[in-house]
Amino acid sequence: MSPAILVEPDAEQKLAILGAEAGDEVSDQRVDSAREPGSAESCDRIYEAKRERGQPARLLKVLQTNSCRFACKYCFTSCLIRRKRTTFKPDELATTFVSLHRAQRVDGLFLSSGIVPDANTTMEKMLATVERLRIRDNYRGYIHLKLIPGASFEYIERAVELADRVSLNLEAPNQTRLSELAPEKEFETSMWGRLAWAAELIRRARAEGRTAARSITTQFVVGAAGESDRELLETVHRARREVAVWRAYFSAFHPIARSPLAGQPAEDPVRVLRLYQSDFLLRDYGFSFSDLPFDEHGLLPRHITPKQAWAERHLQEPIEVNRAPRGNLLKIPGIGPRSADRIIKARREARLRDLSQLQALGVTTRWASPYILLDGHRIPQQLGLWS
Ligand code: SF4
Repeated sequence: MSPAILVEPDAEQKLAILGAEAGDEVSDQRVDSAREPGSAESCDRIYEAKRERGQPARLLKVLQTNSCRFACKYCFTSCLIRRKRTTFKPDELATTFVSLHRAQRVDGLFLSSGIVPDANTTMEKMLATVERLRIRDNYRGYIHLKLIPGASFEYIERAVELADRVSLNLEAPNQTRLSELAPEKEFETSMWGRLAWAAELIRRARAEGRTAARSITTQFVVGAAGESDRELLETVHRARREVAVWRAYFSAFHPIARSPLAGQPAEDPVRVLRLYQSDFLLRDYGFSFSDLPFDEHGLLPRHITPKQAWAERHLQEPIEVNRAPRGNLLKIPGIGPRSADRIIKARREARLRDLSQLQALGVTTRWASPYILLDGHRIPQQLGLWS
């Protein structure tokens, strides 16, 4: 029998493989191929992301390699699953990205990687790719770079210097839950500790007027390790205070064929929605952690939003929309930061007297009406709630 000839995939084939596997990151939405007429196969891995001020960006999301020595039970790239493995050389990936960028098919890069043979070697390759882009190709656009758990300080430092955003996925709220999902991973030092380094490096760079990444994000797998909503949100709350995490993403667990969790059910996407809503209440609405409506098992209600559940328990008297301070407006279901600001502006001009005015200001009136007074009057169809 003649010996097998191994053919190295070309850059386009690597992009198809390594772009597909980067898709499990939920920080961005895939751009509908219908909106990219004439796009080639390689452009199916482009995602739309929001930057800190909300501007959209089309990101090429890709792995440096899909080889990994870790056996995380929720991950398609895990070494437990037999499959085709390939690696981009730094030059090759930088060149591929630059050609897509020059063709105006992408605005930015999201670079992640499997870990092989160790954290530092992996980060070296990723940083070499980014250095080629920044230095050789003079690319000044957006780069989101993953930090590899356990990487040494100098690699985290260089990542913070070169990228616009860095992230490290905590995956679980604490070591106990993480051990269920990723037995080889260590939470406090290798993961949390690296986020803390990044936060401190960014803080110092800003204080000294140096360029540095503008934000840090993280991600959690939801529903694979028996964790409660309270555990997840406590960790997010702590991450925001202690390691300056700008945004936490939640990824509903979905079982992967041939993985150790293949028989476990997929997580309900409504649970993920409730986690995001609760996190926004803490971040943007002035709610405190003790306001969140957990049940005795640390779970949020699924049939109503966390704000509606809070209002059912705490808003005993209707709130006068024409007088309430912004903080109180934000406690009313159906009123968000933007509609609260619009209400405050509009009521300086004239008193608000009916629901259509609130609707025009962006209020979800079917949620708000049980809890408000408009110019001293309850909303007629809701009289029963306080009678
Ligand atoms: S270390 Fe990352 S890429 Fe490797 S198996 Fe775990 S989650 Fe997947």
